[in-house]
Amino acid sequence: MPLSDDERMMDHALAEARIALYQGVFPVGAVLAAGTRIVGRAHKTMASNHLSHAEMNLYHKVFVGDYNYARAENLTLYTTLEPCVMCFGTTLHLPVTRVVFAMTDDYGGCGATRLEPAPPRHLSRQVAVEGGVRRLDACRLFKEFLDNTTEAFWRQGGAQHFQAAVYAELNSAN
Ligand SMILES: [Zn+2]
Repeated sequence: MPLSDDERMMDHALAEARIALYQGVFPVGAVLAAGTRIVGRAHKTMASNHLSHAEMNLYHKVFVGDYNYARAENLTLYTTLEPCVMCFGTTLHLPVTRVVFAMTDDYGGCGATRLEPAPPRHLSRQVAVEGGVRRLDACRLFKEFLDNTTEAFWRQGGAQHFQAAVYAELNSAN
């Protein structure tokens, strides 16, 4: 079966996630695309910085200076993990019209969050959200990270909802 454009883009996001994994960082990768054209790509960096998520790193690369992106370009964010409140909120604020993620985040995922009531600025700026594209591939990277990380947060069972989901997913896939 030929790859869909979404799968192809998510493969680029997964490649970014692998860079983070090789650096010992929680493996989230993100790509911003206009149709089949990649506008930018990034991965999570410093574990100790709450702002250095893949999506934020990506947005800081793309939305720099006198940029000229508009909603009409149908920018799509591809990310290997359901966005958190910061990244999803930032996405709503930017001219991004669609979010596609691989793995749901049962701990801090906010992809299903809707502004209710939506302030006037956001009434006509809906963002479409879709999950599950390349879910298993993303899940495998998270498991590899969780099995090997020395970070106290993870070793002590931080984000246990997420960790349980990763292992449950891979057990059911075997
Ligand atoms: Zn985030």
